[in-house]
Amino acid sequence: MEEFCRALPKIELHAHINGSISACTMEKIVQNKDDLSGVDMKKLNKWITSVKKGEKKNLNETFEMFPILHQLVTDTDTVSMVTYDVIKEFAEENVHYLELRSTPRDVTSTGMTKQSYVEAVLKGIEKAIKEDLNIIVRFLLSVDRSRGVDVAMETIELAKQFNSKSNGIVIGIDLSGNPNLGDMAAFVPLLRDAKKSGLKLALHIAERTDRTDESGLLLSVPPDRIGHGTYIHPEAGGRQDLVDITQQFNIPIEACLTSNILGQTVSSFDKHHFKYWYDKKHPCIICTDDKGLMLTSVSREYNIVANTFNFTKQQLYNISFKSIDSIFESDNVKDKLRHQWTILKTELGL
Ligand SMILES: [Zn+2]
Repeated sequence: MEEFCRALPKIELHAHINGSISACTMEKIVQNKDDLSGVDMKKLNKWITSVKKGEKKNLNETFEMFPILHQLVTDTDTVSMVTYDVIKEFAEENVHYLELRSTPRDVTSTGMTKQSYVEAVLKGIEKAIKEDLNIIVRFLLSVDRSRGVDVAMETIELAKQFNSKSNGIVIGIDLSGNPNLGDMAAFVPLLRDAKKSGLKLALHIAERTDRTDESGLLLSVPPDRIGHGTYIHPEAGGRQDLVDITQQFNIPIEACLTSNILGQTVSSFDKHHFKYWYDKKHPCIICTDDKGLMLTSVSREYNIVANTFNFTKQQLYNISFKSIDSIFESDNVKDKLRHQWTILKTELGL
């Protein structure tokens, strides 16, 4: 099944660039970067060496790496390089359509601005396009909910600008960041405005049990896709009206199994809400969230789903094929992908 999951044509819709950086790319950054001051090299080297040996990581070790990556990716050359590497790695495991997301950052010491950050990501994407890696890449700008409405507004403005000048590569907004912070009531009008201007919305929703009112608020926007949605349904501590609105607007769920287990929001794979929504025939997309730090891949996530729920190859193919419906692209692009999938299906012996 592992081999089949790798050969299967796939879609990835929930991938944060920084968290997707592999140990190999981290090593490259260390070799190329002149100034590594302030970076915890001991922890970083330990991570690289042990990951290369195939060792597993616990919650603390994983989450300690986020700030370290933040310190590593501080200039535009590194941003372009990591973006390209992440795309290449997804392409190598037969992902043919990818939506990346990242928070635009200012770094005074290197002169990187939010604007040049976005340009650097686009440069990485353009390089991948030129090399014809057989992958379509789109980019969502992340609004960090912990940084307040002014920064959110700035990010949305940047997304609007780049939506027209990037030939549609920048297609929308992701809302993410620490789920304990930020007053979402203040964000809703901004998100509605972004949607009205043509940007697509993928919002991290219901990552905590005690925020059902907030989930209702965010679902009322409504978003075009839900990130995680762990605690929407009553069985997980959510509410029936939240399930109803999700179904009524047919809002797809981005399911990131390994990430939820590592983040301890779901206790075991068999209890993952993917199955709840799958059984309701609600659109669910298998995603990685942070493949580099979670030590996973889209293929591995498909394999986990197959093993946990006893799915057949045909069922996995159907999940992947159905994911095409949820991409932030035109019917024309969707049809092209469906055609590509149908051809590959025969090659897979299905
Ligand atoms: Zn995420």
